[in-house]
Amino acid sequence: MLTFRDDSVTAVILGNMQDAGLPHAGCTCARCTAAFQNPAQVQYAACLAVVDTRKKRNTELHGGGTEGHRERASVYLVDATPDIKFQMNLLAGVLGEHPQRRNRLRQPDGVFLTHAHMGHIGGLPQLSKEAMFVNGLPLYATPALCELIEQTRLWSPLVAELDFRPMPSGASVDLGDGLVVTAVPVPHRDEWGVGTVAYHIQGSNQSLLYLPDIDSWDEWPEAEATLSSVDVALVDASFYSREELGGRAPVAHPLVTDTISRFTHLADRMVLTHLNHTNMILDVGSVAETAVHQANFRIAQTGDQFIL
Ligand SMILES: [Zn+2]
Ligand SMILES: [Zn+2]
Ligand SMILES: [Zn+2]
Repeated sequence: MLTFRDDSVTAVILGNMQDAGLPHAGCTCARCTAAFQNPAQVQYAACLAVVDTRKKRNTELHGGGTEGHRERASVYLVDATPDIKFQMNLLAGVLGEHPQRRNRLRQPDGVFLTHAHMGHIGGLPQLSKEAMFVNGLPLYATPALCELIEQTRLWSPLVAELDFRPMPSGASVDLGDGLVVTAVPVPHRDEWGVGTVAYHIQGSNQSLLYLPDIDSWDEWPEAEATLSSVDVALVDASFYSREELGGRAPVAHPLVTDTISRFTHLADRMVLTHLNHTNMILDVGSVAETAVHQANFRIAQTGDQFIL
């Protein structure tokens, strides 16, 4: 269970893998085999949470004066991954008890979806009545993704419990006291025509960009300006190099080697996430992992926190 600093906005990594996590279903590679055999080596699909423990505005007391009134923390998830049941429980300390149900955690204050791929929406059924049973959960996504989920009959019992909050490209939502989340459209494989976004998250002191999936840096002319403008940039690092793919072209993701050479000058803010199970930077002490650290890039680890 994770703990958080008081009176702060904290972004926390709850998973650092490509959609399928580690181990990967049906994979017998050395990394997946090791993770099947040793639960300590399991890694969850890429996910971020934002936790706001700031004291709320002063409230007036009876008979004059004011008191700093602390409400419960606000907790938001970015993406609902197939590992959501483990990721939700990492937040147990800050979610706290469900107001009505014994031995249950309170639901989060909202879930933001980046796009429709399995690793990013695959945890939604876990919020349905067979499992967490949310009620009126705010769900932020592109208008087309909201519509796709609403129209998916298979999920209709869950859909009835969601409070859809469509966010058109470039739209921002103010979550209170200067915590603002903005949807930033990015190019990414899009089978349903519902779009993919990164989220720009502005806290009281720092800003963070969460960009788990993008097809290529070349197809996103705003890359340089957007990454330059934030304090922390969590970016797609699915594949390390062409070598890992047996010389094949990457499957619509930038290579880590390319990301490092393009953004060397921004290394101070760059954090790599969404790693495929084949990615050599998963192996501590490997040539690839060493090269990432020598370039002063960081590799996201579950539990890493950024004060915003
Ligand atoms: Zn993904
Ligand atoms: Zn594998
Ligand atoms: Zn994707």
